Amino acid sequence: MPDARASRVFPRHTKASVPVAVRGEGCFIVDSDGKKYLDASGGAAVSCLGHSDPEVTQAIKDQLDRIAFAHTGFFTSEPAEALADRLIDRAPGDLSRVYFVSGGSEAVEAALKLARQYFLEIGQPQRRHIVARWQSYHGNTLGALSAGGNRWRREPFEPLLVSMSHVDPCYAYRYREPGESEEAYGIRAADALEAELQRLGPETVAAFVAEPVVGATLGAVTPAPGYFRRIREICDRHGVLLILDEVMCGMGRTGSLFACEQEGIAPDIACIAKGLGAGYQPIGAMLASQRIYDAIAAGSGFFQHGHTYLGHPAACAAGVAVFDKISGPAMLARVREMGGKLDAALRDRFGQHPNVGDIRGRGLFLGLELVEDRETKAPFDPAHGLAARIKKAAMARGLMCYPMSGTLDGRRGDHVLLAPPFIIDDTHVELIVDRLA
Ligand code: PMP
Repeated sequence: MPDARASRVFPRHTKASVPVAVRGEGCFIVDSDGKKYLDASGGAAVSCLGHSDPEVTQAIKDQLDRIAFAHTGFFTSEPAEALADRLIDRAPGDLSRVYFVSGGSEAVEAALKLARQYFLEIGQPQRRHIVARWQSYHGNTLGALSAGGNRWRREPFEPLLVSMSHVDPCYAYRYREPGESEEAYGIRAADALEAELQRLGPETVAAFVAEPVVGATLGAVTPAPGYFRRIREICDRHGVLLILDEVMCGMGRTGSLFACEQEGIAPDIACIAKGLGAGYQPIGAMLASQRIYDAIAAGSGFFQHGHTYLGHPAACAAGVAVFDKISGPAMLARVREMGGKLDAALRDRFGQHPNVGDIRGRGLFLGLELVEDRETKAPFDPAHGLAARIKKAAMARGLMCYPMSGTLDGRRGDHVLLAPPFIIDDTHVELIVDRLA
């Protein structure tokens, strides 16, 4: 482990030292001391194929041998076209155009700007406002951060972008609101959007943005049944675009290629990243509906947004190779099967644990809610620094998991997120639960 003070790398956690990763071996990462870590978090729901997939690596090498970079101001590329074709063939609704970026925050930035520009193009410049949800995460760039609803992340940078607001209750936090049927809760939560639209004036709102399954901030919380159908209906009634952020929950993670397929709805704009490149290359994408694309094409003809590395050929080549492995019915069935096994093993081991309040999630995207008291659901005192302690203890035992604090309100409440590679087997499931215990 290097001395953090000697390293010239600017880490996010300046007070903690981390091991040096030198090699990947399937579901494991090996450090410079030869210690092996079972990757039960996929980094942060990224490494859906594990760490040394020879076919993905070969696809990147082959592309680098042909051409590594061709600026999209001048060219498109074969892998970008191939990846866009694959995504659109499988995308829900009328999503029909793919805008490539380098990661999740960039995908969300692109979506927010596309929504705003769409209304400019069709002569509705007053539709500028974006509505999002509390206890969500959409990325760390200023626009994406402004959409995100984690108070602890937002506070240091306030005032954030003023044309964004957030709705409560977050349907996602039903764990603390029992006594109401799931369906009733979903309707009540969706109606918070209706109320916010009425408050703002629906004709001023461009888009509503949400994660289908809430990842980092809440720990794999699934929507109440019917919530998204009602959200879709409210957006349609008021001409508001629906942006779904599938950066974490998309690309097969929940057992369907797009998480929203399981909600029976399609967005106007979708954001994907993480599992798209599976960690082999940095890549993300924004998928837009034909109607939105047509408005730009028929209007100014120029999307006022772009980054140097968009559509990077080597990144897209990785994306094609990853897509071909994760998108087939056998792999998606495997995610559901292994997800079921991991869920069962977690329930078996932690179902009665005095400090585990809830076990939840979908596919290989699972979360444990940690509480001081199972009955009252009282969270731990933030002074415990529980998330950091769990992470450290897990790493000492050779386990990568993704603990987070702030589940309740950005500060209080703790959970552990698990998002292992889709290639885990029964032995890995046992190891994850043992080491976590
Ligand atoms: N949206 C969601 C739902 C995410 O989980 C994340 C990353 N955790 C992002 C956006 C931002 O992605 P990136 O870190 O690649 O910028």
